[in-house]
Amino acid sequence: MDMADERLDPVIARCEQGLRRLLHSASGDVFIYACNGHGAWEAVIANLVSPGQRVLVPGTGHFSDSWALQCTAMGVEALRTTWTEGLPIDPDAVEQMLREDTEHTIVAVFAVHTDTASGVSSDMSALRRAIDNARHPALFVVDVVASLGAAPFAMDALGVNVVLGASQKGLMCPPGLGFAVADERAFAVSESVTTPRYYWDWRVRKSPLAYRKFCGTPPQNLVFGLQAALQLIFEEGLDQVMQRHSLLAAAVHAAVQCWSAGGAVGFFATDAQARSTSVTAIQVATGIDVDALRTVARERFQVAIAGGLGSLQGRVFRIGHLGDVNAPMVLGCLGGVQAAMQVQNIAFGAGALDAAADCLARA
Ligand SMILES: *Cc1c(COP(=O)(O)O)cnc(C)c1O
Repeated sequence: MDMADERLDPVIARCEQGLRRLLHSASGDVFIYACNGHGAWEAVIANLVSPGQRVLVPGTGHFSDSWALQCTAMGVEALRTTWTEGLPIDPDAVEQMLREDTEHTIVAVFAVHTDTASGVSSDMSALRRAIDNARHPALFVVDVVASLGAAPFAMDALGVNVVLGASQKGLMCPPGLGFAVADERAFAVSESVTTPRYYWDWRVRKSPLAYRKFCGTPPQNLVFGLQAALQLIFEEGLDQVMQRHSLLAAAVHAAVQCWSAGGAVGFFATDAQARSTSVTAIQVATGIDVDALRTVARERFQVAIAGGLGSLQGRVFRIGHLGDVNAPMVLGCLGGVQAAMQVQNIAFGAGALDAAADCLARA
């Protein structure tokens, strides 16, 4: 069981190297789990925070809410900053809360880069500055589940101690792999954390043996998939992948801008700078049945759009534009959504498809 497998080991090594390259991490320890994003959250909590300690989870909407709930369930106190709908994380609120923690009882800041429910991306360099300005030693931990592969991220340059992600969003894989990348300081912290853990334990997983790296049988099918996805990203070129995501997001935004002239739908993210390159959340006027719209889009026009999560249920629908997407897919999606809005008698402004095509043509 502990023997090296000359077919599998290089695949695992390429996944670890590829994730480091994607994250711009020179030497982080990569821990890959057979789990989803919630599993990666649990791994990070279990390795970094002892029961009774505190973390600060800046508000970004549904995903920061869920992560904080998971902290609480694991016996960790989760302090929050308030989230204003449509806006990114408020770095000043984070700085203030850290300044007030003069005893340094907060061991980590747990930040969501892109909140998939609101379509809002927060500025991680502003958050780094907030921590530095407060002269607070808290670890900086970032959830890049929804942004990795769709928005640039530089772990070392940002001074991020731990990053966590999952396979099924920008990384274009089926669900089933979660991962965490930890720098030296975070790994050292994990060595003194008292949380009982076994499956998640970085101390056990930091090993050259695949059987220990994965705490049992490696999920080979998923690891092969991740290797292929990383290869696609690097073959296209990291900069090109980022440009493609910005351009496709801009095309979607151009369409939503036109639709919003009709008064019934519009951007949920009021701060245009904070609109994510992964997903756009579109707010609907009261009385519009989001689920009915989604059903028409799916059943008549073969376009899958997402609904709202948490407090946004029934208030928004979402267009995803991350991962394996290109211009005709986005144009097809926008056409399908517009046709579905017409079927549902939802008022929308004219010219959305022309505006999206124009945006693509000008690039
Ligand atoms: C999807 C998502 C998660 C949770 O991932 P699951 O695989 O659904 O458990 C966590 N954080 C963010 C930002 C996400 O988008």
